[in-house]
Amino acid sequence: MVDDPVRRCVVCRTALEGERFSRTSFCSERCRKIDLGRWLNEEYRIREEGDAWAEQEEE
Ligand SMILES: [Zn+2]
Repeated sequence: MVDDPVRRCVVCRTALEGERFSRTSFCSERCRKIDLGRWLNEEYRIREEGDAWAEQEEE
């Protein structure tokens, strides 16, 4: 948990003030998609590193 009382968009750090942001961590649909894209990229990256490790162990 974060001490900052102001919730912020996890992508662009815009303050999420007001009821309309009570159920979202993003200031806009655009930022939501950006964050989703980051997650997917991270997953691919980890998977690639995992494959590299597996290949090294086989040698
Ligand atoms: Zn944002």
